[in-house]
Amino acid sequence: MKCSFCNEKSVYFDGEHAYCKKHFIENFENKALSTIEKYNLIEAGDKVGVAVSGGKDSISLLYFLNKYGDYLNIDVVGVHIDEGIAGYRNILTEYLLEFSRRNNIKIYIYKFSDYFNIKLDEALKLEKKLKSCTICGVWRRWLMWRAARELKLDKLATAHNLNDEVQTIIMNIFEGNIKDIAKGGPKVGILDGDFIPRIKPFYFITEKETTTYAILNGLYPPWAECPYIVNQIRDEIRKWLYKIESKYPNFHRKFLERFVYALDRIKEDYRKKEKVNLKPCRYCKYPTTRDVCRACEIKLTISDKM
Ligand SMILES: [Zn+2]
Ligand SMILES: [Zn+2]
Repeated sequence: MKCSFCNEKSVYFDGEHAYCKKHFIENFENKALSTIEKYNLIEAGDKVGVAVSGGKDSISLLYFLNKYGDYLNIDVVGVHIDEGIAGYRNILTEYLLEFSRRNNIKIYIYKFSDYFNIKLDEALKLEKKLKSCTICGVWRRWLMWRAARELKLDKLATAHNLNDEVQTIIMNIFEGNIKDIAKGGPKVGILDGDFIPRIKPFYFITEKETTTYAILNGLYPPWAECPYIVNQIRDEIRKWLYKIESKYPNFHRKFLERFVYALDRIKEDYRKKEKVNLKPCRYCKYPTTRDVCRACEIKLTISDKM
């Protein structure tokens, strides 16, 4: 098939148009730029940290924002969290560092072992009651907050795509997680306090498009999978959504567009009904509704067992 916009051979078909490599990349980047503009994700002069795991999605986001750094007049750095998972994290960290050297991008690495005095692998041997994703998620969020403060970031960008977002919304509805639903959208944040805005420039870009962008730009990382991953419900929901999408094209996109349309009302409603009073954690100053934040609580429980 030929590209719908020139005479080149096409590499991607979205159901409507065919794209050659050049036109695919151009269309992809324009979509992300228009999300940034429409939702005011970035302002000139911002220092933007990209949360980068080393996987294809976050590497693509870092590559894209760095490419448009001058155009957007922003400073772009990568923030990488090393939980200490042997045979997984080290593979992606190595790939990321090689990528950043090639593209001349500054990467800051934050390690669990530096801030919580233990690698995730070892913490999980000591703490059997908590799930691996619970410890990892709480500590990761804390470390991102810490990094944002230390690096004086104005925005933290994450690579969530359209398909991820639809799955998350459905999971949050299923789990009754109203706060996370209200926090959604291309720009995350509803509670004030000490958090910096989290932005998602790939919000309206599909998983398939991000994968294609990574491949076409030679950004595809080596295969590595987290050994602790248990995401049965998300997996089921993902498959179910793809099944619907194959019958009703653009189901994900329409779902998300309608969700964003309703989101202003949801946020307003949530703010009115739920008064959240955040105060700094007694030990680390992390904004929390409790006396001691969850990250410190877990750290204390585990250090008792060390
Ligand atoms: Zn073309
Ligand atoms: Zn704390």
